[in-house]
Amino acid sequence: MPAAPATRRRYSNGVPGVDAVVVGSGPNGLSAAVVLSRAGLRVLVREGAGEPGGGARTSALTLPGFLHDRCSAIHPLAAASPLFRKLPLAAHGLAWVTPPASVAHPFDDGTAAVLFRSTRDTGDTLGPDGRAWRALFDPLADSFEPLLEEILGALLHLPRHPLLLARFGLLALLPATILARRFRGPRARALLAGLCAHAIRPLDAAATASFGLVLGAAGHAVGWPFPAGGAGKITGALLSLLREAGGAVETGAEVTELGELPGSELVLLDVAPRQVCRIAGGRLPSRYARRLASFRYGPGAFKVDFALAGPIPWRARECALAGTVHLGGTLEEIAAAEAAAARGDMPARPFVLVAQHTPFDPSRAPPGRHTAWAYAHVPHGWAGDAAPAIEAQLERFAPGFRDLVLARAARGPADLERENPNLVGGDVGSGENSLAQLVARPVARPVPWATPVPGLFLCSASTAPGGGVHGMCGAHAARAALSYLERRVRAPRAAAP
Ligand SMILES: Cc1cc2nc3c(=O)[nH]c(=O)nc-3n(C[C@H](O)[C@H](O)[C@H](O)COP(=O)(O)OP(=O)(O)OC[C@H]3O[C@@H](n4cnc5c(N)ncnc54)[C@H](O)[C@@H]3O)c2cc1C
Repeated sequence: MPAAPATRRRYSNGVPGVDAVVVGSGPNGLSAAVVLSRAGLRVLVREGAGEPGGGARTSALTLPGFLHDRCSAIHPLAAASPLFRKLPLAAHGLAWVTPPASVAHPFDDGTAAVLFRSTRDTGDTLGPDGRAWRALFDPLADSFEPLLEEILGALLHLPRHPLLLARFGLLALLPATILARRFRGPRARALLAGLCAHAIRPLDAAATASFGLVLGAAGHAVGWPFPAGGAGKITGALLSLLREAGGAVETGAEVTELGELPGSELVLLDVAPRQVCRIAGGRLPSRYARRLASFRYGPGAFKVDFALAGPIPWRARECALAGTVHLGGTLEEIAAAEAAAARGDMPARPFVLVAQHTPFDPSRAPPGRHTAWAYAHVPHGWAGDAAPAIEAQLERFAPGFRDLVLARAARGPADLERENPNLVGGDVGSGENSLAQLVARPVARPVPWATPVPGLFLCSASTAPGGGVHGMCGAHAARAALSYLERRVRAPRAAAP
């Protein structure tokens, strides 16, 4: 869809060049750019890395012919995102692959709890807790779409479904360890703990239950799909939409100071608060800058990508049905690992998230070969080598795994941050998921994406509604920026960042 000239005339400052610059081309930066360009603005995206995409990129990290997702790998929130569902991404090359099971959670006895689309089938893997699982997740899965709209709507609007949100909120505010007490047996408790551990917080912290509830409900309502061909296809589709609407992307163009940017009505920063302070520091009111500087980051990640001679030899065969496998054993073990990483101690047996794409998407490896994507939660900025601990967890639940490894590519917190400065200390969540930072992200303001500097907006996952590939931080920031332009059209004033 070409940019609408009437809208462009309405907003444009009349200066040849661009109306909006977006710094950073992660899923949120590109989403913001797409929303703005489809509203008729001339948009330029400046990306520091050599290729666009941030957390949604796919590369041959190990051997030729093996494609690995550099960061995000599994995309329930992208598939269900209110923005992505409205955009014609399929027409721009994005196709979802949905494995038969969303998550498998193996145990030392050679069995596994499995999150299937059906809550009944899931319950059958949970011993005495099948009925309790259904009682918890059936209502959430049944109303997943409106629920997600409320949650990704970032708590800033009058809820359209107040009862639904209130019911969810009462449970979501709980620590995972308390919510898990609904279950009598270890299997359901462990499955829930693995889902809640996506909060990357100690499981006895407030609101860790929210992650398990949303991700569990997503698994039942839409599954945990991923793009055929890799996460880079999400970026490819957004780029294609952006270019179709007249937008442009410059890569290898790191921005260190706002003054480097071409003049424009709007600047949107898809960067973490620490960088906002560097890039816009001089122009931010000191109180706001201090609040941004006190934004807290969470534990780090240590990631290993494997090229494999065959599929992962899971002892629990049900694990082969799932795109994601959570390695951590019991709730108690996962809770201890998450608590250790949060207080700065490397756990001996870390919680490990594994994604296996190739059994469902053979396009990512040569015939008969496979890939595995794995990362562990480690202390913030941790400088050690977690690859042996990650492989030990894989070997524990898939004996013979090591014999299949043809090549591996390991990256710790410092490597991740070097590749993308948004990953402060290796924090893949773009900021600690404490209750305070879930509610007010990055700081408490009526419109959290707007800064006190006219025309300057924040759009990264460090803003509401937070981490994950869903593009909603970018969409909200773009809409806030468009509202700002509307107000300027009505009451013009010469101020641009
Ligand atoms: C290892 C890992 C695994 C993950 N797994 C999943 C998953 O399975 N599912 C999921 O939904 N999410 C996952 N995530 C989280 C997800 O990738 C992020 O939440 C998401 O990418 C955030 O998007 P963003 O646009 O806010 O920022 P990013 O994706 O971080 O993009 C920011 C972009 O800005 C660029 N940039 C930064 N500073 C500058 C500058 N000064 N000048 C110019 N450009 C700059 C960066 O190079 C980068 O391209 C994972 C993240 C990591 C790191």
